[in-house]
Amino acid sequence: MCDVIIAGAGPAGATCAKVLADKGFSVLITERHKLPRYKSCSGMIIEKTIRLISDYFGSDIPDRVKCAPSDNKGMIFVNDEGNEYRFEQKGLNVWRSSFDSWLTDMAIDSGAKLIDNRSIISCASFSDRVDVEFDKSYREKAAYFINCGGAANSIILTDSPSKKDFIVTYQCFFRGTIDLDPHYFYAFLQPEFSQYDAWLNVKDGMLVIGTAVKNNDIGKLNGFYSAFKVHLERSYNLNIFEKVKEEKWIMPRIRPDFSVDYGCERILRAGEAAGFLNPMGEGISSAIESGYAAAKAIAENFDRPNKVISQYIINASQTEKYMKRQWHLLSFMSDRFKNMRSI
Ligand SMILES: Cc1cc2nc3c(=O)[nH]c(=O)nc-3n(C[C@H](O)[C@H](O)[C@H](O)COP(=O)(O)OP(=O)(O)OC[C@H]3O[C@@H](n4cnc5c(N)ncnc54)[C@H](O)[C@@H]3O)c2cc1C
Repeated sequence: MCDVIIAGAGPAGATCAKVLADKGFSVLITERHKLPRYKSCSGMIIEKTIRLISDYFGSDIPDRVKCAPSDNKGMIFVNDEGNEYRFEQKGLNVWRSSFDSWLTDMAIDSGAKLIDNRSIISCASFSDRVDVEFDKSYREKAAYFINCGGAANSIILTDSPSKKDFIVTYQCFFRGTIDLDPHYFYAFLQPEFSQYDAWLNVKDGMLVIGTAVKNNDIGKLNGFYSAFKVHLERSYNLNIFEKVKEEKWIMPRIRPDFSVDYGCERILRAGEAAGFLNPMGEGISSAIESGYAAAKAIAENFDRPNKVISQYIINASQTEKYMKRQWHLLSFMSDRFKNMRSI
């Protein structure tokens, strides 16, 4: 029996594993795909994330996980009326597969064990332990279990709100040219291009163009995408030579009145599996912060399981406040975001 089993080797899972292993706990981190696994992402690392990684992993982000242009200078939002808002910062541009593997490797160096290419399919909480069931009839026991399986996690716990109610993202990688600065992430808030934002960023010379819709409005995806591309052609001289690839993904359906699912008793959730995600889809910082908050709550209350969740909620309160502040900022730019509600 190990101390903690973690599902998912994304930023939330890697942070939980690193923090707990550094404190001397026996940790098993599990990942359903073979590492390095693919994750659809713009790969924008904000300044806050760079700081968190330095604090919790004691390291700078290495060049080998970055893509060109490696420095991200910030986000530029264009609102419903075409007004531009610039948020300058010293961020980075990374490929998620190598970035997440690098984080997980640091947890392994601290003593965490990894099982990849294997899914956790269920877990059950008892007064003294959690029983975790993997595919291929493999089982493990632990004192605690942290679900860091992201928005698309398939762990059968109680209910999984993210599965019923989520956003579908669609992005394509193109070879081509456009009259926009490749050092920025551009988010377009006009309602004719998406139900959240439509975006453009550059990775290793490829233009990444994407949009997002609610899962029950998936039929509107192609219309939004075509309208956005036409807008980029007309307003910014988008010129496409070749389509390299396309991908669909999901993310939690975030709203200003979001609620976080921290878990209960010996089963905790962190990152997107708990509902942490900042508006416009910046989720790496909240995954790392919530992973840290969950791990710290377990480490400090290991023999007092009834205190763990309440401590976790306290530890993560700043992360929740940050999410709320981001919503205020968006509402200031566009009323559409102020009026989004859970029902
Ligand atoms: C198109 C797109 C663009 C984005 N761009 C950005 C960006 O530029 N910057 C940013 O900060 N955020 C961005 N995000 C959000 C960011 O990717 C997520 O918020 C972040 O990855 C969440 O981290 P996580 O650790 O919670 O989950 P994930 O990174 O999703 O990791 C979860 C892991 O758990 C594994 N897993 C799932 N189920 C199981 C199971 N049953 N057993 C074992 N393993 C399991 C998965 O395979 C996965 O590896 C973007 C998201 C999308 C979809």
